[in-house]
Amino acid sequence: MYIGRFAPSPTGPLHAGSLVAALASWLDARAADGRWLVRIEDVDTPRCAPDAPERILAQLADCHLLPDAPPLYQSTRGDRYQQALDELLAQGLAYPCGCTRRDIDAALAARGITHERHHERPYPGTCRQGLNGKRARAWRFHTEKFMSNWHQGQYPKAQAAPFSIVDFRLSWRDRRLGPQSQDVAQDVGDFVLRRADGLWAYQLAVVVDDADQGVNHIVRGEDLADNTPRQMLLQAALRLPSPRYLHTPLLLAADGEKLSKQHGAPALDTSAPLRVLAAAARVLGLPPYPGAAGVCEALAWWVRAWQGTYNRAP
Ligand code: GLU
Repeated sequence: MYIGRFAPSPTGPLHAGSLVAALASWLDARAADGRWLVRIEDVDTPRCAPDAPERILAQLADCHLLPDAPPLYQSTRGDRYQQALDELLAQGLAYPCGCTRRDIDAALAARGITHERHHERPYPGTCRQGLNGKRARAWRFHTEKFMSNWHQGQYPKAQAAPFSIVDFRLSWRDRRLGPQSQDVAQDVGDFVLRRADGLWAYQLAVVVDDADQGVNHIVRGEDLADNTPRQMLLQAALRLPSPRYLHTPLLLAADGEKLSKQHGAPALDTSAPLRVLAAAARVLGLPPYPGAAGVCEALAWWVRAWQGTYNRAP
């Protein structure tokens, strides 16, 4: 049974860009006769707006995008994330890290690597051998240890996974973008599982929740595509199945940047749902709905147009 989801971060109400991901995941689930879930990704509490979940759910309902189960809130799931972290710690695949940003920059600079603003700092692994008297701040994934376990064949179930690893490079196929690859050790290094402020990292929360909810198809914006390898490593390490992935086109602002709340995207006005859905459908490359009738008819029409667009077979 196909199970898909839309997983908004409630930093504010939906904007035109987030509706594209919502519509794509809904269409893909409906086209497969599957289930469609909504998960409120409210782990990053300081960035969350208290009324955003309700507003998002109301906007989706205005657009007739109705989840098949009550939404799951990540803020209720701390125990499960802790369990997953404990499992990784027990395998030696996670370790505490006492480095501040400044420590990380200094360690990178000592190796001649300068860090570009707004770019991920690939962690140089300073605390892998121990904290050296520092206080544990964050918990990180031990990418090299995972890779060495993988190459020794320690993840039998994962060997049938929809990705392959050569040295540190993970390759996978996206349903829309085709073959993708990333050198996880070089590009992201030992990524964070639990942050220095005690909050759970997106990578860990998303993997645990997708697995617990039985999600086997992930449809989301293309800006998240380069998170996929990290999530696949965690799935393998926790012996969870890997879903299939489809990363959709993004709605771009006039300057070519991704439309986002930080970019000043206004809240989506869903009082004329057909109009906003038509705009989202256009971003997805779907033909315009030829009728003038209601939202349900238009959605059913787009489901048929979507069918067969992106192959679901592995
Ligand atoms: N919560 C993430 C976001 O709003 C999406 C997570 C996902 O779809 O994996 O950007």
